[in-house]
Amino acid sequence: MSKKCPYEKKCGGCQYIDLPYEEQLKKKQKETNKLLSSFGKVKPIIGMKDPWHYRNKVHGVVAGDRHGNCFTGIYENRSHRVIRVDSCLIENQKADAIMNTVTSLMKSFKMRPYNEDTGYGFLRHILVRTGYHTGQIMVVLVTASPVFPSKNNFVKALRKEHPEITTIVANVNNRNTSMVLGDKQQILYGKGYIEDVLCGKTFRISSKSFYQVNPVQTEILYEKALSLAGLTGQELVVDAYCGIGTIGIIASKTAGKVIGVELNQDAVRDAVNNAKMNGIENIRFYCNDAGRFLVNMAEQGEKADVVIMDPPRSGSTEEFMDAVGKLGAEKVVYVSCNPETLARDVRYMKKLGYRAEEAWLVDMFPGTVHVETVVLLVRKP
Ligand code: SAH
Repeated sequence: MSKKCPYEKKCGGCQYIDLPYEEQLKKKQKETNKLLSSFGKVKPIIGMKDPWHYRNKVHGVVAGDRHGNCFTGIYENRSHRVIRVDSCLIENQKADAIMNTVTSLMKSFKMRPYNEDTGYGFLRHILVRTGYHTGQIMVVLVTASPVFPSKNNFVKALRKEHPEITTIVANVNNRNTSMVLGDKQQILYGKGYIEDVLCGKTFRISSKSFYQVNPVQTEILYEKALSLAGLTGQELVVDAYCGIGTIGIIASKTAGKVIGVELNQDAVRDAVNNAKMNGIENIRFYCNDAGRFLVNMAEQGEKADVVIMDPPRSGSTEEFMDAVGKLGAEKVVYVSCNPETLARDVRYMKKLGYRAEEAWLVDMFPGTVHVETVVLLVRKP
């Protein structure tokens, strides 16, 4: 590997893109070993055969030049200046092409890019999500105002160029915020969500739900997580920070019962639907803070055999981990996208009597410094 990214310096998203892929993997292994090897054995990193254009979710900030030409790009390192990006080495290429079509249509529709400083303009962001196995594509147009002028013609023109688009959503974000998506949205075309397949199960993904960005490596990660869990069909399993329910649903056939907990309402709605769609009856989802929920479970004297946890980059909380101990879980499978908070939490779990048996690294983010880790923690009396 080594392709040259023309935006590398200004973007800063892919710190390793200049390095041959083998080098990238070595560095990730070394960095993670440093953080985790004192706790237990760290296995060799699992890389990708083809580490390019893997991102199934693509986002662009909409901007324009003085001549009224519109484009999408990224903010230059922590500024409001938008760097034009027409294609990216790690993004899905069809998604990039669709973003370019949207911006090329803007001029003839007299649609102006939103300007963060003046507050004028209409289109703020474009988000494209693609289903790796299904080929379904969702386009989310984030606008500053709820009135979408000539929306039917715009949708028609976009679909003419890209008949592969399966749904188009208009999302309104009229706040001065770094969040991409606002609360209100309307479906302009299609079902308003896409579906994808992971480990033989079908999942519905709506615009605001979390979904892993690298579908090829996600299957490897989930299979690893479940083989570490070693379920026999009897266990009560908690899938904490469960998103749209992927891990819990895949685990359900080898578990007695699964309880999923997730804070994002839209994701929980997707999860409930996903269980139904896959005909799964031994799973329940709850919309709550994972820590609060586990504390409640423990206070009610409930028990859990296995806890699978996959918190955001900030990691988990002591409240959550204390509750895991009280629930008496024999095994904890910790999936993490941030080895630093993972190491912090593993250290805390050690005090609660959990020993890290092995850690597996899966390269979900080639080109970047990031790496996904899954650790098996076993309770030692
Ligand atoms: N396991 C899922 C999602 C992992 S991402 C998957 O593999 O797809 C982490 C998830 O944690 C996100 O869906 C996020 O919405 C959720 N989350 C963040 N903070 C949370 C909290 N305090 N309690 C419960 N869920 C939380």
